[in-house]
Amino acid sequence: MFYTGAPQNTNRGDIDEEITKEAQKIMLKENIDINKVIVHAPYIVNLANMNNFDFSVSFLQNEVKRCSLLGIKYLVLHPGSAVNCPREEAITNIANGLNLILDNNYDVTILLETMAGKGNEVGKTIDEIKAIIDLVKFKDKIGVCLDTCHLNDAGYDVSLFDDVLNEFDQKIGLDKIGCIHVNDSKNSIDSHKDRHENIGFGTIGFDNLINIIYNERLQNIPKILETPYVSKDDTSKEREYPPYKYEIAMIKNKVFDEKLIDKIREDN
Ligand code: FE
Ligand code: FE
Ligand code: ZN
Repeated sequence: MFYTGAPQNTNRGDIDEEITKEAQKIMLKENIDINKVIVHAPYIVNLANMNNFDFSVSFLQNEVKRCSLLGIKYLVLHPGSAVNCPREEAITNIANGLNLILDNNYDVTILLETMAGKGNEVGKTIDEIKAIIDLVKFKDKIGVCLDTCHLNDAGYDVSLFDDVLNEFDQKIGLDKIGCIHVNDSKNSIDSHKDRHENIGFGTIGFDNLINIIYNERLQNIPKILETPYVSKDDTSKEREYPPYKYEIAMIKNKVFDEKLIDKIREDN
């Protein structure tokens, strides 16, 4: 997964055809299936609120076009935040926005991410995600991204992930899951906080995350880590070292390494 620019802002350049071809060549060489590479939209677009609506729609129309030019099929989007607006209305606004954005000939699917429910975030329950999807006209171009930290923080017990999947299947359908963000959480279930933790070091724990990653029903769905960079030491606030290589090795090994953070620090 990558962002087409900084996650925190909406400044985006034009897509360079030459660099795109080069990237696709590298992916081919490295055995990376482009159908499993995903773009994440920036955090500040908000389809829920009419104040930002027009800008958000036009930004996302362009973002979908950028994805298409890059050969990317999936765009992850935070549904929005219902600031000064009833949730029912926010859901309608989001769906209206999606209907404007998806009315195109591009082969790009938008995946609505399940949210922790921090502040006025929309999409903190399977029912809310379903309510949005129900109002979207372009059913073949809308899907869902499950985020394990967000599900936990929103109140779902991810240690019983098959129960969560059963509810999802009954209400939306497992075929709508486009990707999974695998993150541990710094906070307890139902905390509505949204602070990610490294794999095995949070409240969800290693075994529960392994069960999700290797769940047979999710076999062909891309899993993406969004765990925090590791700081130099416990007192330092700056997070400098990417943990992904180490976490992926640990996941493949299926054995929790409680010394993983120390190991990352030593190696860097
Ligand atoms: Fe996200
Ligand atoms: Fe996420
Ligand atoms: Zn998050």
